[in-house]
Amino acid sequence: MIDGRVMNTSRPIRAIIDLSALRHNHAVARRQVGANKLWAVVKANAYGHGLERAVAALADEADGFALIELERAIALRQSGLTHPLLLLEGFYDADELALFVRHRLIPVVHRADQVQALLAVDWPADLPVYLKLDSGMHRLGFDAVGIVAAQAALASRMPLVLMTHFADADGPRGVDWQFARFTAMTTGMDHPRSLGNSAAILRYPDKVGDWARPGIMLYGSSPFAETTAAALDLKPVMTLQSEIIGVQEIAAGESVGYGCTFTADQPMRIGVVACGYADGYPRHAPTGTPVLVEGQRTRTLGRVSMDKLCVDLTHVNVGAGGTALLWGDGLPADEVATAAGTISYELFCALAPRVAVEVRG
Ligand SMILES: *Cc1c(COP(=O)(O)O)cnc(C)c1O
Repeated sequence: MIDGRVMNTSRPIRAIIDLSALRHNHAVARRQVGANKLWAVVKANAYGHGLERAVAALADEADGFALIELERAIALRQSGLTHPLLLLEGFYDADELALFVRHRLIPVVHRADQVQALLAVDWPADLPVYLKLDSGMHRLGFDAVGIVAAQAALASRMPLVLMTHFADADGPRGVDWQFARFTAMTTGMDHPRSLGNSAAILRYPDKVGDWARPGIMLYGSSPFAETTAAALDLKPVMTLQSEIIGVQEIAAGESVGYGCTFTADQPMRIGVVACGYADGYPRHAPTGTPVLVEGQRTRTLGRVSMDKLCVDLTHVNVGAGGTALLWGDGLPADEVATAAGTISYELFCALAPRVAVEVRG
């Protein structure tokens, strides 16, 4: 595991992690939610940015951290972190509850048998439990009948927080329909609420509840297809860059890469970049996916291979040793993700352990 330290490699690919951008983006979330609190979502190794370094960078600002992985939460506690920690998928087996108690981890509970498991342990009276409601996403959560029983069973034993997750905060359906269902399902229940992800924080800041849960916006990407991160005042935290390690001059009719999927219709200059799908660059990125070479915008050509991809240098006067920026500062990951038919979340999470990390800010 490379998390928490800077690894040096001879290979020129680097993920540059800008922690000042992370703090800036957290401040944007803070501005949006006003007096409400923020769970900084750091699951999946802080969306590929490195859990320990993200948590350390936000320690002064964050109200708490939310993640999925129990072992990583315990490691944070063992490193001395005293912030509230929320386990977004709760516990999978009742045996884990002793660890939740010992390390003061807040579980999200979404099934009746989990309520029974909680009742069977000596739960601290001051350690909250989150009850997750299914208000329309139909993934995890209690229905209207189940939440009444769960709330009644636990309310006298520990502080409760009522939680739900929006399915389309970034899309055309919005959140009002789920907010209305959630409100109806929780009528008369006097507990704090936790609703909004990044998209809701940015678009419906009055519907995020007492504890909002920003994830992707902290890492500087836009949750919206139609709005850039820059327009939302978000700054990229991860920049993935490498170098041109070879240059080819090819004639019209020659092809590039595996499968010969790109064929030149004129003489072309091709640059070979030390970055491939084993670094986390998406193999399904088609010809034409944007790349910045020494600050000049160009495109990928042909298939991405395990360790290399090819770029068009026909109109870019850069040779071996030139910098190739795959995404980040100057080329939004959102743009690359869109070209590759995915979302920046997946690009970040897929950053491979072999990529050296350089921390700034
Ligand atoms: C991942 C996650 C979030 C953060 O979502 P973003 O779209 O990245 O802001 C919020 N809440 C829950 C329950 C999550 O699992």
